[in-house]
Amino acid sequence: LTTAGGPVPAAAGSVRYLDPARPVGDRVDDLLGRMSLADKLGQMVQPERRFIGPDEITRYRIGSVLSSGGSAPRPNTPRSWADMYDRFQRAALATRLRVPMMYGVDAVHGHNNVVGATIFPHNIGLGAARDPGLVRRIGTATAEEMTGTGVDWDFAPCLCVARDDRWGRTYESFGEVPSLPSSMATVIDGLQGPGLRGPASVLATAKHFVGDGGTAGGDDQGDARMPEAELRAVHLPPFREAVRRGVGSVMVSYSSWNGVKMHRNRHLITDVLKGEMRFPGFVVSDYNGIDQIDGRPGFTRAEVVAAVNAGIDMVMVPDRWRRFIELLRDAVEDGDVRMARIDDANRRILTKKFELGLFERPLADRSYLGTVGSAAHRGLARRAAAKSQVVLRNNDEVLPLDDDDKIFVAGRAADDIGMQSGGWTVSWQGAPGATTPGTTIVQGMRRAASRPANVTYSKDGSGVDRSYDVAVAVVGEKPYAEYHGDRTDDLRLAKADLKAISRLRAAKIPVVVVLVSGRPLNVASEIAKWDGLVAAWLPGSEGSGVADVLFGDADPVGRLPVTWPRDGGQEPINRGDGKRPLFPLDFGLTYDD
Ligand code: BGC
Repeated sequence: LTTAGGPVPAAAGSVRYLDPARPVGDRVDDLLGRMSLADKLGQMVQPERRFIGPDEITRYRIGSVLSSGGSAPRPNTPRSWADMYDRFQRAALATRLRVPMMYGVDAVHGHNNVVGATIFPHNIGLGAARDPGLVRRIGTATAEEMTGTGVDWDFAPCLCVARDDRWGRTYESFGEVPSLPSSMATVIDGLQGPGLRGPASVLATAKHFVGDGGTAGGDDQGDARMPEAELRAVHLPPFREAVRRGVGSVMVSYSSWNGVKMHRNRHLITDVLKGEMRFPGFVVSDYNGIDQIDGRPGFTRAEVVAAVNAGIDMVMVPDRWRRFIELLRDAVEDGDVRMARIDDANRRILTKKFELGLFERPLADRSYLGTVGSAAHRGLARRAAAKSQVVLRNNDEVLPLDDDDKIFVAGRAADDIGMQSGGWTVSWQGAPGATTPGTTIVQGMRRAASRPANVTYSKDGSGVDRSYDVAVAVVGEKPYAEYHGDRTDDLRLAKADLKAISRLRAAKIPVVVVLVSGRPLNVASEIAKWDGLVAAWLPGSEGSGVADVLFGDADPVGRLPVTWPRDGGQEPINRGDGKRPLFPLDFGLTYDD
C-alpha cells in the first residue's frame, strides 16, 4: 500500500492546517493533502474504549472513541472521565499529523453516564413540557457538564417520531407527531452553541436516521413499512429541522425501510440527506450497525463496502475495528470504494473537528468540572421535571395537595432515583436504587410539605389507615433501554404496584397515582378507582419537580406528547383511524379545569 502522506508539520504558523486564522475549508484541504490512506481510514472508525488503548490510538491514527451506555472509567467520577479523555487525546496528538480525536457518549438526558451529573427528564417528558427554550437551556447545561469531562460529542438528540408505544425507545422520543421533535430540535443549539465555537460547545447527533419510530409492531430495529411519501411526511421533518440548525452529525438507524437496512440505504443517506437536504456534517453508523446489513452475525467486506458507499462516513465498530480498517483498505485498493468517497468522509469529519476548535483546544477544559451536578443545573432539571408533569385525572380537586395534609406515600418509584431516571442512567439499561445523587419524589414531597413529618412512606403501602387525608402511589416501569422494555402483560401495571394501590384504597381515603414510566401504560381498567392520575414520565434526578406540581407550587402545564391508548390492541393508535383512546394527544388538565 502506498501511503503518500506529506511532510511532518513543524510548528503552527508555517503549516496551513495548524493556523487557526485560516478558513476551515483551507485547513481541511491542506490537511487532507498530507494524509496517507492509513491516516484517512483511522478517521473513519470508532472503537469502544474497552477495546482500544492509547498506544493503538497512536499507531492506527484513530480519529474517535466512544463509551457506549455506561462504559465509564473507574471510579466513575467527572475527574476520572477528564483524565481518561486526556489520555486518549494525548495519544491522538502523538501522531505525525497531530489530528485530535473526538470522544462520543450518549448524553441523552444530561451527561448521564457520569455519577453525579444532573439527570434531566427523558425526551418524552420534555415533549410534554413543550418549551423549546427550556430544551435549549438543557442542551447548554449538558454541554457544560460534558466539557468539564472533556467529552466533545453527544449521540443526541434522538429525533425519532415514536408511533407505537410498544417500542422500548418511546421515551427517547419527544412525541408521536413530527412537529414535536422538530420544535425540540433547539436542544442542538444548546449543545453546539453558535457555530460549534462556544467555550463549551459539543457536537450533537440527530438520530436515528430514519424511521426508527415507525417500525411494524413497535419492534426495535424492525422494519418501517411505508411509502416514501409517508416516511418523508412523518419521520423526515425533524431531521430537516436538525440540518437547518446545523447539527454536526447524523446517526443511521438499525431499522429497515421496506425490508432494506438503513445502513445500506444510499438513496436516503446520500441522495436525500446529503444531497437534497444538503447536510454538510458527517454520518455515523450505529453500534455494530453494519453487522446487520446481510442479516448474519459479524461483518463482511461486502457489508463494509455497502455501508461506506451508502454514505456512512464513520463506522462504530466497538471491538473489531482493526478488521474494519483492513477490509476497507482492501476495498479501496480494489476500487470497490472510491478514493473520492474516502476523501469526502474525511473532509466531513475533519471539518467538524476544526469547527469545534479541537486543534487549538484539544484537552478537557477542567474549568467546567464544577458545573457537573451544580445547583444551577439541578434547578433547571427541577423546573423541567415540573413542566413535564401531565395531570390526567383530578376528581374533586384532590390535587394540588395541601401543605398541611397528612399524606401517605407508597410505591416502588417513590423513593428511588434509579426508577425515576429510567434507562441511560449511569449504566445502559439504568437500574433501580441510589445509582447517582439526586432527590427522590418522596424526599421532594417532604420538603414541599409544611412539616416533613406530614409525609409518611412505605413502599408496599402497609401501614396506611383513615387517619391520613390523602394517599399517593408512585408506581410504574422498571428502567430499561432499547428493545421492548418491560412490556410483558400488555403494558399493565406490575402486580406489586396494583397491590400497593389497593392497600391505599382499602383505607378509604382519596388516592392519587403518579406514573413513572417511559410511555403510556395500560390503566384503563383501573383508572375509575383512582381520584387522581399524573403522568410523571421519567423525570430524572430532581424529584422535587414532581412534588412542585403535586403541591401546586408549580402549575401543571404538561400536555400529552403521545396518544394514550386504552390497551395495546389499539396500537398503533395515531393514524387517524377513529379509535377512541383513553386520552388524546395534547390532553392535560390544569388546576383551573
Ligand atoms: C443505540 C444508539 C447509541 C449507540 C451508542 C446503540 O445501541 O442504538 O442510540 O447511540 O448504541 O451507545
